[in-house]
Amino acid sequence: MTQSTALAQIIDGIALSQQLRADVARRVNVLKARGITPGLAVILVGENPASQVYVRNKVKACEDAGLYSVLEKYPPDLSEAALLARIEALNQDPAIHGILVQLPVPAQIDAAKVIEAIAPAKDVDGFHIASAGALMTGMPGFWPCTPYGCMKMLESIHFDLRGKHAVVIGRSNIVGKPMALLLLQQHATVTICHSATKDLKAITLQADLIVAAVGRRNLLTADMVKPGAVVLDVGMNRNEAGKLCGDVDFAGVREVAGYISPVPGGVGPMTIAMLLVNTLEAAERAST
Ligand code: NAD
Repeated sequence: MTQSTALAQIIDGIALSQQLRADVARRVNVLKARGITPGLAVILVGENPASQVYVRNKVKACEDAGLYSVLEKYPPDLSEAALLARIEALNQDPAIHGILVQLPVPAQIDAAKVIEAIAPAKDVDGFHIASAGALMTGMPGFWPCTPYGCMKMLESIHFDLRGKHAVVIGRSNIVGKPMALLLLQQHATVTICHSATKDLKAITLQADLIVAAVGRRNLLTADMVKPGAVVLDVGMNRNEAGKLCGDVDFAGVREVAGYISPVPGGVGPMTIAMLLVNTLEAAERAST
């Protein structure tokens, strides 16, 4: 028996996100020529260090692509009523096409209420119940940026999902569940695994595609992957040295998989690119 020693091909989220961002910039110019500048409002409550980095990156990406963006920072003791009032004002503001409240919010604020306060037409994170319902029923709406980015990654390698077995590990409202629905929409046979799943390995070994979205380092190892499978790593963790890493044992799985997305440089940059796409599309929809 001969054994293949070829390493999996890397799905480069940096290169792909740059292409998408360049396309956004072109479409922004078309809108600007008609007197419309797509605008994103980013709200940060409190001083969570990771959130501060995320919002800075989002605002910078907007500026680079020619979108208007405003970052509103509020102290950690901001009341829920004050935040809801601010969201309502942004809902009415014609210069703002997308509203994003960086999660988590402090304990005195009900995140679900905040998400539902955002006008569905400006829900560029795709977390509103109306957006979730639209995704579930195949109606137009905003798809959550991370699973949307994963779909773009699959498109970039021309991965035909029809009839394939896709295994999503994780069932959160922002990644796992919408990911599964998007894959289903593309005619994959989808299995969702989660913290109560028994014998994860027996399931992942059947998968043509694995999306790992748990938040646990080395959750997926080479012995759990069918040769040639596509592996997308959504996880964001830190190793002992404090270095960013995903849920997948990259070095090991790379020897078995057909395609693999790295961390960093995989799904993360795609998430930001899709936020720009959603904001641009919110502006396009508002202008027609
Ligand atoms: P979450 O904590 O809401 O959900 C984690 C899921 O993993 C849960 O559904 C849980 O059931 C499942 N799970 C936990 N332990 C498991 C196990 N042993 N086996 C199988 N499933 C298990 O997290 P989330 O918000 O969905 O994020 C998941 C990961 O993705 C995190 O690391 C997060 O930081 C990362 N993330 C990355 C991006 C990005 O842009 N790259 C965006 C969002 C989230």
